[in-house]
Amino acid sequence: MWAGWGQPVGAVSDSLYYETRAAMGTTFEVYLYAESLSQAMALFESAFLEIERVEAAISTYRASSELSRINREAARKPVTTNPEVLKLIQRALLYSARTGGAFDPTVGPLVEAWGFFRGSGKYPSEDALNQARTVTGWQHVSLAQDARTIAFDREHMMIDLGGVGKGYAIDRVAAVLRSEGVRAALIGGGTSSYYALGAPPGLAGWAIDIPAPFGDNQSLATVTLNNQSLSTSGNYRRFFELEGQRYSHIIDPRTGHPVQGRVQVTVVAPRAEDSDALSTALFVMGPDAGQTLLQALPETGALMVAGLPASPALLELSWNETTGTAALSHDKN
Ligand code: AMP
Ligand code: MG
Repeated sequence: MWAGWGQPVGAVSDSLYYETRAAMGTTFEVYLYAESLSQAMALFESAFLEIERVEAAISTYRASSELSRINREAARKPVTTNPEVLKLIQRALLYSARTGGAFDPTVGPLVEAWGFFRGSGKYPSEDALNQARTVTGWQHVSLAQDARTIAFDREHMMIDLGGVGKGYAIDRVAAVLRSEGVRAALIGGGTSSYYALGAPPGLAGWAIDIPAPFGDNQSLATVTLNNQSLSTSGNYRRFFELEGQRYSHIIDPRTGHPVQGRVQVTVVAPRAEDSDALSTALFVMGPDAGQTLLQALPETGALMVAGLPASPALLELSWNETTGTAALSHDKN
């Protein structure tokens, strides 16, 4: 019913409402069923206010955010923060531990060295790379749960929640809409993460199209989600090319270099925070380590496009078990 990066392809029924808003450097969109336009507008307001609240707390592009304050102060002294930010950082670091450091929220200096924070990428000097390496590493962050403090054991470190923040914001919106009585909604962030709350009336779930990475409006698969999330990480979103090599904005923190040999990873999981973190993590880890990780995570599966862009392979990792009756059309180009 709904497909193609959240574009509706069917008729919008009387009680289905749609609204988008710019946030977190991208566009968020919400589809929801409501009884009236005024009810829908009030719900959209709650939804987008919640995204703005999360962004104001965790954006590294805003000097006023709680995360920016932590990044400025945590090398000098333990910083007391609020339970929400503390727990989000704690869960991100748990992914670092589970992925052997493939997912690392302290990767910011490396992302910056490769020119992906503001620009579109550049090859760094060996000096700049080494400098960034010395200030990257999730083991250098310590959290004290009871005191609610966070500290870095070296200067110039930073926490960047770019790999998980959109998913978290989407989960928060789902919680807000649920608490306001919404039974069917689809929340999308920048077409890379979705959460499907319930299902449209009479349907098994919200149908989401996973586009093939090489354009031409081709589809890799269509999945039907009901109280599930989906996130995609891809190397075609932000990258630069040098001497025929493609360098993407997802960095392998263990080497300090952009990941090579992966094109796109889509993860389906119960919560968008998890699918968001995992799509980034599996992009770094690759199919074998990724499969091992997924085996430990219930109701979580991935579709990976790996290899060189000229000859990609489509790999399913715990995929059919997770997506159930989803129509999987391997329509590769
Ligand atoms: P996503 O598009 O969700 O895969 O997130 C990519 C963003 O996460 C990048 O733009 C960086 O801000 C950040 N990032 C890059 N590499 C990593 C990594 N290995 N672990 C965690 N975050 C990363
Ligand atoms: Mg992600």
